[in-house]
Amino acid sequence: MERALLKRVSEHPQIVIYENHIAVDLITEHHVIGELRNPRAETHCWGAYALDVKANVVKMFLASVTMLSTGGAGHVYLYTNPLIATGDGVAMAARAGANIANMEFIQFHPTTLYNSGSPSFLISEAVRGFGQCCEHRPAKIS
Ligand SMILES: Cc1cc2nc3c(=O)[nH]c(=O)nc-3n(C[C@H](O)[C@H](O)[C@H](O)COP(=O)(O)OP(=O)(O)OC[C@H]3O[C@@H](n4cnc5c(N)ncnc54)[C@H](O)[C@@H]3O)c2cc1C
Repeated sequence: MERALLKRVSEHPQIVIYENHIAVDLITEHHVIGELRNPRAETHCWGAYALDVKANVVKMFLASVTMLSTGGAGHVYLYTNPLIATGDGVAMAARAGANIANMEFIQFHPTTLYNSGSPSFLISEAVRGFGQCCEHRPAKIS
C-alpha cells in the first residue's frame, strides 16, 4: 500500500514531497503579532515551520489549509512503539490553541522485547491474546 501510494504521490504534478523536513510549529497569530491581547480570540493557521534537517535551517511553509497527519504518541513509552510516534502533531496543535480530544484512543503497544544495547522489537499481539485465552481455558503444558 505504502509503495503504491508513494509512487502515485511522486507522479502527481501538484504534490511536492519534502524529505528530511520535521514540522516544528504551526504558524498562527502568536508568531506574527506576539501573544494575543485576548487569549479567547479566534486563532488562524497559515502554515507551518519545518526544520530542514540536512541544511539545519527552519523554513516557513505558507498554506491556506494545513492538515496534521503525524501519527500517534506511542513513543512516550521509551522502549515500545516506533521512534517516529512522538505526538508532534498533537503538541503543535495544542500550542496553537486547538482543542485536543479523544487522546485515550491513540493506540500504543505495551509489549516489547527489551535487550539493553540492541534495538527493541514488538512482541506479537498473539502473546497478549493467548494470555487472555488462558484465563478461561488454561493451556496444557507438557
Ligand atoms: C508496532 C505496531 C504494529 C501495528 N500493526 C498494525 C496492523 O497490523 N494493522 C493495522 O491496521 N494497524 C497496525 N498498527 C497501527 C497503524 O500502524 C497506525 O494506526 C497507522 O500507521 C497510523 O497512521 P497515521 O498516518 O495516522 O500515522 P503514521 O503511520 O505513524 O504516520 C505519521 C507520519 O508522520 C511523520 N511525522 C511525525 N512527526 C512529524 C513531524 N514533526 N514532521 C514531519 N513528519 C512527522 C512520521 O515520520 C510518519 O511518517 C500498528 C502500530 C504499531 C505501532
